[in-house]
Amino acid sequence: MPVALKTYDRLRDAVAALGSETGSRYLGGGTLLVRNLIEGSVQASSMIRSTERSMTEIRPAGGRITVGAGVTMAQIAAHPDLKFLAPVARTIGGPAIRNMATVGGNLFAPYPYGDFAVAMLALEATVSVQSGYSPRDTALDEFLLSADRGNRAVVAAITFRRPESDRAFRYVKMSRTHPKGASVVSIAAHLPASGGRLSSPRVAYGAMAPTAIRAKAVEAALNGKTLDEAGIAQALAVATEGCHPQTDPFASDWYRREVLPVYLKRLLLS
Ligand SMILES: Cc1cc2nc3c(=O)[nH]c(=O)nc-3n(C[C@H](O)[C@H](O)[C@H](O)COP(=O)(O)OP(=O)(O)OC[C@H]3O[C@@H](n4cnc5c(N)ncnc54)[C@H](O)[C@@H]3O)c2cc1C
Repeated sequence: MPVALKTYDRLRDAVAALGSETGSRYLGGGTLLVRNLIEGSVQASSMIRSTERSMTEIRPAGGRITVGAGVTMAQIAAHPDLKFLAPVARTIGGPAIRNMATVGGNLFAPYPYGDFAVAMLALEATVSVQSGYSPRDTALDEFLLSADRGNRAVVAAITFRRPESDRAFRYVKMSRTHPKGASVVSIAAHLPASGGRLSSPRVAYGAMAPTAIRAKAVEAALNGKTLDEAGIAQALAVATEGCHPQTDPFASDWYRREVLPVYLKRLLLS
């Protein structure tokens, strides 16, 4: 069946078209959607996209940074203000994928993908979602669990906290194939400190649940602690709390639970 490609200058017109045309899908970089259409696992009569400028802009503003949903992983990896995110973007697919895959699309990527979303969760991201004429902001952790993800709404942008320092943001990804490969587990952490003690740390996991999740028990166990063996012991003890990993061709759920604390320890003490 032929699939029409419809391009709109304004995002709100694209959203309106998406709402009125049954069988339409929003197109990001197409790395998953086009592949799924070709192999027949997804059916659609049209793909809708927007060339609105804000969708491809990166706008640092003080302590927060806004990235349009159409920004690609390659652009993230190359941007001088986003050096702390380059190691995350560089672990997503190979160069061809990174040139196409968008920040917005990664929020919809199925398990065990979604590594960029993991970093965003650790950086207290909010998602700007356009479902009518005006955008609405939602915390990313709520968005990842919400029905909006599979609905007719379009992500316009994602806004996240600039880390306290480059050292305060850490990311590790374990995969079977190098330099690229799907996650066995990925972990991102923002570890602000005051007087040598962690202050409101944020930790997020990928491939440990159907979507990226926050490790809230770990965050609570680290708060006020020092980053040494004694200070992180309780966090390691509760590392897998709230996790529901799946078994897939890359790893079993058992293996994911086993390696998670090992990689969390490395990340915290690195
Ligand atoms: C070979 C390969 C390797 C990969 N490796 C990794 C990896 O290691 N780590 C990882 O995290 N990911 C990986 N991915 C997934 C990759 O990150 C995704 O392909 C990408 O993030 C999806 O982005 P896209 O812009 O191409 O989305 P598309 O393919 O265009 O769309 C995917 C889905 O998201 C929806 N969508 C896209 N943009 C928006 C938006 N702005 N608002 C609402 N809905 C939207 C589409 O409607 C569709 O349902 C890999 C993919 C491939 C094909």
